[in-house]
Amino acid sequence: MPESAWPAPPANACSAAMDLQVEVAILGAGIHGAALARELTLRGVSCALVDKGEVGGGTSQWSSQLLHGGIRYMLTGDIRQMREGLAERATWARIAPHRCRWEAFWMPHRGWIEGLSHRVGIGLYDHWGAERPGWPAELSLGHIPKEAFLTDPRGVLGPFRGATAYADLMTWDRELTRDLAASSDAIVLDFHEPEAFEEGGGGLRALRLRDRRDGSARRLAARRWVFALGPWTDGAMAQWFGESRKRLRLSAGIHLWFDAVPGCERPWAIRRPKGRILFVIPRDGMLQVGTTEREVEDGCVPILEAEREELFGALESNLPSLPWRQMPVRAEELGVRPLVAGGGATTHLSREAVLERHSRFPNLTLVLGGKLTTARALMDRLATDLTGLRCETSTTALLRLWDGQAAQIR
Ligand SMILES: Cc1cc2nc3c(=O)[nH]c(=O)nc-3n(C[C@H](O)[C@H](O)[C@H](O)COP(=O)(O)OP(=O)(O)OC[C@H]3O[C@@H](n4cnc5c(N)ncnc54)[C@H](O)[C@@H]3O)c2cc1C
Repeated sequence: MPESAWPAPPANACSAAMDLQVEVAILGAGIHGAALARELTLRGVSCALVDKGEVGGGTSQWSSQLLHGGIRYMLTGDIRQMREGLAERATWARIAPHRCRWEAFWMPHRGWIEGLSHRVGIGLYDHWGAERPGWPAELSLGHIPKEAFLTDPRGVLGPFRGATAYADLMTWDRELTRDLAASSDAIVLDFHEPEAFEEGGGGLRALRLRDRRDGSARRLAARRWVFALGPWTDGAMAQWFGESRKRLRLSAGIHLWFDAVPGCERPWAIRRPKGRILFVIPRDGMLQVGTTEREVEDGCVPILEAEREELFGALESNLPSLPWRQMPVRAEELGVRPLVAGGGATTHLSREAVLERHSRFPNLTLVLGGKLTTARALMDRLATDLTGLRCETSTTALLRLWDGQAAQIR
């Protein structure tokens, strides 16, 4: 992406030594890189976490911020992926209670047949996701009584006749990523640009980095390397090693943020064509709306007018009781999903991750695809593979707060 799109470095100096040696070097400090740093620390293995920007400054700050089983998998039939997400959701609620809030999401239906199918699907979803540490007793699931449905302004005038509520977990993605990094003893080299790799011993041996704060050079040597570069993976592999193979397909999604609307108490998950979900989520004193899907070529692309228009169109047709176009958009954001390359539309590509052992550098692993929700579990597996050490406390050890403050989601 253009140099100007990267966040400018802060004024403070980096205190790390100029010549560094670790067991594992991780490039990319999104949710995957940060989760791996924690896993390695829990196993007593040294590591460095390198990012050209800031920790949690990539896709991991532009998601829908749900730690979820993925109710859409109920629709696409990917039950295994859904159950893995549900199990991981419970783990996050245990290890990061300060960054999580349980919610009862309402899925509205247009008629009784759809209502019945939602009740069956959601019944199974909540049955498989019955492990919900810290679930607030006041939230109710299942059938929403008509009177309650009609007290929500989204429930009047529109095509919906009622709703069924299911459980899911909301988070703050960037803060969670930073907590993971803070829960590790990794040497954090943020705002560092990788410049040139040294090869040796049949693999990668060291990396020369430029500190974007002051232009100084650092050398990082490691026995093993992990690239967790999210949507920037293909571009980096082309730039660093001249590789033209596309490992990923990229799909942009946008969110718009409006002022809170009185009476919109619960998040809504509205089914859309092609297996997509339109989320309308009251959080942090605002109303978050998203998301879309557009295939793109780069990890950093602008929001298109047509894309914004598509989201407005979906809001107007599904929730006509609110004057969407008169409501000021307080913020808008775009994130790019790294999806493992495959055929067909990106909406139908799996959100599952792949760990690829590089063919030319056997001590390099690439993290491709994935989700916030399953990042811990995937990195637990990778850390076990890299070190030969299992770690029982990964699913129970509380995360440290990077700033000492819980980001309470209201
Ligand atoms: C719109 C949208 C909604 C989503 N909603 C959800 C959701 O609700 N729940 C869920 O579980 N998942 C969701 N996801 C998926 C999830 O956000 C991503 O899969 C996840 O954040 C990817 O994390 P990552 O660590 O792989 O990549 P990133 O977070 O992008 O991290 C990659 C890092 O690499 C760094 N980097 C890039 N190039 C270089 C370089 N040359 N040198 C050094 N560093 C570099 C970047 O700065 C970045 O920090 C959503 C994604 C999108 C786009």
